[in-house]
Amino acid sequence: MTTIPPRTLTKSNAQYKAALKRLPLGVASTFRYWGDDRTIYVDHGKGGRVWDIDGNEYVDYRLGYGPAILGYADDRVDAAARDGMTVGGVFALSTERELIVADRIARMVPGMDLVRFSNSGTEAVMAALRLARAHTGRESYLLIEGSYHGLFDAAMWMVNVEDWDAAGTRDPEVVSYSKGIPQDLKSLVHLTPMNDPQRLTEVFAKHGNSMAAMLIEPIQGNCCGISASTEYVRLARALCDQYGVLLIIDEVKTGFRVAKGGVQSLHGVVPDISTFAKAMANGYPIAAVAGREKVMRTFRYGGAAHGGTYTAHAVSLAAAEECLRILDETPALDTIASYGEQLKAGLSDILNRRGIVHSFTGHPSMFGLFFAPTAPDNYRDWKLSDYSFYDTMAYHLHDLGIICEPDSREPWFICEAHDAACLADTLKAVETAVDATLEQIKAEKRA
Ligand code: PMP
Repeated sequence: MTTIPPRTLTKSNAQYKAALKRLPLGVASTFRYWGDDRTIYVDHGKGGRVWDIDGNEYVDYRLGYGPAILGYADDRVDAAARDGMTVGGVFALSTERELIVADRIARMVPGMDLVRFSNSGTEAVMAALRLARAHTGRESYLLIEGSYHGLFDAAMWMVNVEDWDAAGTRDPEVVSYSKGIPQDLKSLVHLTPMNDPQRLTEVFAKHGNSMAAMLIEPIQGNCCGISASTEYVRLARALCDQYGVLLIIDEVKTGFRVAKGGVQSLHGVVPDISTFAKAMANGYPIAAVAGREKVMRTFRYGGAAHGGTYTAHAVSLAAAEECLRILDETPALDTIASYGEQLKAGLSDILNRRGIVHSFTGHPSMFGLFFAPTAPDNYRDWKLSDYSFYDTMAYHLHDLGIICEPDSREPWFICEAHDAACLADTLKAVETAVDATLEQIKAEKRA
């Protein structure tokens, strides 16, 4: 019998109870609530690890949903941010560093001629969609099922696969994934399954002439790293050209992570507009909208509005300058991918020795793990797959000092600071977690 000593979460539990009085669910972001007894409050992070307020140490594969690409509290980026602090904050005026960072982005990502900054991924995608609408004079847009583009009304639509007859001929219903979204907005959104070229061609034939944009995350960073094939992304590019629709590649998670030029460079496709955020500044809040010159110049008086009080904040901008320099000029991304490959190999070895069928999606720097011979290539298939093994294993891993997302939709993120000790600790914990999961499943079957 595998025994997992329970973590002490006394201080986190007390903090949760106290926080509940002032913060809905006791947290600042709904996804940080992991249950009344298992919501963790962080003391600090360093490198690839975090420590909670009870002193529990974890190897972290969530990395704040991706931003800590170099690792927490990276000395180089933090020194740059401290230097940025001396600039004085925000002025409702521009600083010289904006051009330095914009130049770096344009050099790293082919085809991104012009750049504007935002504070978060949500804000960047919101601006990108507004830009596409302003440029084309059209209002509707196309999303891929399973994608996540942030918390703004236009992006918060999904297909309801819970109440869907997979064997039938009808598509799942399009629903908003939060209360509070005006239902009138539904008429502007179209959804199509990933990697289905026929459906994509059909949706363009039907709605292409009235669509402003197609948004795609070629690696779905919020749906297990399900990946578009190169042919699919290229078809999207060709259809957008044919119908005058702007292609927006959302690289909020993939940008400056899977390659210097993002996932778009891996597919050899240049979008009209692209959005970046997480890995830009190793956790300091900054994002970017970038794109083709003619489109980007629609950001002007009388064109698409863009701006905001905290846009291009001096601290974030200084952090972005240093973080992007490191990602561009050092082998950091190779180090990250190589660790991801080693981790995947280690996981496979443990699972194979127990005859557990599995597969991976995404990129070594952000990969999804499935307990099926082949990974799903669209959201409907993920929803119909069995993710109970993952859910149980993740639960045990937390107790064993490894933080992966409890929801199997979130990939495992790797940072430059994950090292041999992190790998050894992780694989030891995974071995125990997998055995405990197997025993638990066996016991449940017997019961
Ligand atoms: N787009 C994608 C692809 C994302 O993964 C996210 C965040 N997970 C967003 C947009 C929204 O970014 P933010 O949380 O910074 O608003």
